[in-house]
Amino acid sequence: MYQSKLFSKTRKEAPKDEVSKNAELLIKAGFINKEMAGVYSYLPLGLRVLNNINKIIREEMNRLGSQEVFLTSLQEKENWEKTNRWSDEVVDNWFKTKLKNETELGLAFTHEEALTSLMKNHVRSYKDLPFSAYQIQTKFRNEARAKSGIMRCREFLMKDMYSFSRDEKEHLVFYEKAKQAYVTVFKRVGLGEKTHLTFASGGSFCKYSHEFQTAADTGEDLIYYSAKNKIAINKEVLNAEVLGDLKLEQKDLQELKAVEVGNIFTLGIKFSEPLGLVYLDEAGEKKPVFMGSYGIGPGRVMGAVVESLADDKGIVWPVEIAPFKVHLIEIGTSEDVKKAAQDLYSELQKAEVEVLYDDRDLRPGEKFADSDLLGIPLRIIVSEKTLISGEYEIKERALGQVNMVKEIEVVNFVKKYK
Ligand code: ATP
Ligand code: MG
Repeated sequence: MYQSKLFSKTRKEAPKDEVSKNAELLIKAGFINKEMAGVYSYLPLGLRVLNNINKIIREEMNRLGSQEVFLTSLQEKENWEKTNRWSDEVVDNWFKTKLKNETELGLAFTHEEALTSLMKNHVRSYKDLPFSAYQIQTKFRNEARAKSGIMRCREFLMKDMYSFSRDEKEHLVFYEKAKQAYVTVFKRVGLGEKTHLTFASGGSFCKYSHEFQTAADTGEDLIYYSAKNKIAINKEVLNAEVLGDLKLEQKDLQELKAVEVGNIFTLGIKFSEPLGLVYLDEAGEKKPVFMGSYGIGPGRVMGAVVESLADDKGIVWPVEIAPFKVHLIEIGTSEDVKKAAQDLYSELQKAEVEVLYDDRDLRPGEKFADSDLLGIPLRIIVSEKTLISGEYEIKERALGQVNMVKEIEVVNFVKKYK
C-alpha cells in the first residue's frame, strides 16, 4: 500500500476527552475514530490489525474443531425471561429497543440464551454430542464507565464459543483443550509473556472459572500472580482457602493491575435446563446438555497490546497482528531513490510480504516520527546513502535494533523475521 494513498492521517493530538493510552495512540495514528464515549470505528489500519487478531482466533478455534456461526443481535424477550436475565434489575447493561408494534427486543450483550435455544433444533441424542460452536460478532453493553478506550466499549466484537457435552467429565476434556487454545492465541497475538492464567469465581457448577489477564498499569482488575507457579488469582476470590486449593503461598504473590482479555467458564446446566436443551442418553432418558462458554474480546486484545507494548514514541505491533510487516521509507526525491524504493516494494510484494510504502514528499523527521507512531515491526530506509553502500538499513521497531542488510538479502531477512 502506498502511504500517499492512505486516507487516514496521523495527528499530533488525541481528542481532549480521551483518557486512555490505547485510544489516544490509536486515534493519533489513524487506526480508529472515536464516535462517542465507548464507541469507536475502525479505519483501514485498525481494521487490518483487528482482522489479523480475528484470523488467529479463528485458526485456533477451528483447530479445536469448533464450528463458526453468526447469530443475530436482535433478541426476543421470551428466551431471556426463561433464564431470568431480561429484567434491567438483574442485568444492568442491556440496550433494548422496540418494534413498531411496541414488541420489546434486546440487543444481545452475550449469546448463551440465543444459542442454547437454537440448539434445540439440532440436538436429539447422545450421538449428537459433544460439539462446540463459536462466532465473532458484535455485542452491545450499556457499560457504566467507558474510560478504557477500545478495551471497554458499549458496542464491541466478541469471540464467544459455547461447548455442548453429555456430562461434566466430557465437558472438562474440551475445557482443558480450550484453555490451551487460549494460551496459544495470546502467545500468537504477542501477549504471551504478560498474560496470566487467572483463577476467578466459578458459579454454581464449578468452583473456579479461568480468566486470561494481561498485566498493564491501566488495567481495571487486580490479580495476584505467582511467577513460581505461573498462575494468578483474581482479587475477588483471594482467600486462605483458595490459596490452599491452588497450593500457593501468599509470599510468592505479586499484585498486578491487569486487563481481562479472555474468560472461560463452566456453565453446567444453567442455561440448558431453563431453556429445555436436552438429549436422550443411551438408556433413552432425557438429560440436560452440559455447557461451557469461552470469550475473547478482539478489540480489547488490540487495546491491551497497545497498552502493554507501546513506548514513548508510539505503538509497537507484534509481527503476527501488525497492519503491515514492513514500513518502506524513501528519503529524498531523486529518481534513483524513487526507482530503488519502487523496485524493492515490488520485490517484497512478490514475496507476499505486506508493505506500507511511504512515498510521500515529506521531511525525513516527519516520516520517522509517523513510522514510530504507527508501530510497524520493520522499517527499511531507501536513500542516496543506502544506494551507494549497496546495503539497506532495517530497523526493528520493538527493540530499536538496526541491521545492515545487503540488497540481495533483504527479502530473505524480512521473510524470516518473526
Ligand atoms: P469485564 O469483567 O471486563 O466487564 P466480562 O467478564 O463481563 O468483562 P465476558 O462477558 O466474559 O466479559 O466477555 C468475554 C470477553 O469479551 C472479555 O474477556 C473481554 O475480552 C471482552 N469484553 C467484555 N466486555 C467488553 C467491553 N465492554 N468492550 C470490549 N471488550 C469486552
Ligand atoms: Mg469479567
